[in-house]
Amino acid sequence: MACYNGRMATILLVEDEAILSDTLRYNLEREGYTVLTASDGVHGLELARRKQPDLLILDVMLPQLDGFSVCRILRNESDIPIMMLTARQDEIDRIAGLELGADDYVVKPFSLGELLARVRRILWRGRREEEALQREVLTAADLKVDLGSRRVWRGAHETGLSAKEFDLLVCLMRNRGLALSRDLLLERVWGYDFLGDSRTVDVHVRWLREKIEPDPSQPVFIHTVRGTGYRFEAPAQADADVRAALPHASNEAMR
Ligand code: CA
Repeated sequence: MACYNGRMATILLVEDEAILSDTLRYNLEREGYTVLTASDGVHGLELARRKQPDLLILDVMLPQLDGFSVCRILRNESDIPIMMLTARQDEIDRIAGLELGADDYVVKPFSLGELLARVRRILWRGRREEEALQREVLTAADLKVDLGSRRVWRGAHETGLSAKEFDLLVCLMRNRGLALSRDLLLERVWGYDFLGDSRTVDVHVRWLREKIEPDPSQPVFIHTVRGTGYRFEAPAQADADVRAALPHASNEAMR
């Protein structure tokens, strides 16, 4: 049950009561989950952003930044499932009133069995959604990326990408229009513990451009953001065609 789309589900537990945190961690790990912990809201928020866990178990009363605030901030950024731990009945009313977007809540004191059952249920639901996502196809102009089969086409022509090139392309396409820093791309594609430097990103972007851009020297899909990193744009189909036909036209002139 802990296996999540071929890998172990990661749960981030944000709880400042050490005994409760240790107990939950021990039992979640025994169920096979990978567990990350934070004991205050600021650290919890930072870990949630950086590690992108499959589930966040979030206490309401936390030092620095309370659970409501963490939930509200994260809801604006991601659809990670959130389970709130509340100490009092009246906090539930606040949750309902604030419509913070938590997926579930558990009132302390709770039984361990009940909490684990709810965790399994939320992760099962998340896995169904992730499976649906795996059938997703991303497109931009004549570029087509099939997430399920991990195949990429430009028009009718299939182009073979390495695993990292594919992951990098998907990360860029999912955030189209946004400037993504090299560090962020390193974390998302290579993982936080990767011992490389940001030139790794540059090299892979160069390879990727050679495979998907009509003219790699005048990219229409993956744009360099000076001093930051890269940004994916979906050019109009006609624009991509024209640039393919006129490889020396500059980006600025075609805009
Ligand atoms: Ca607390």
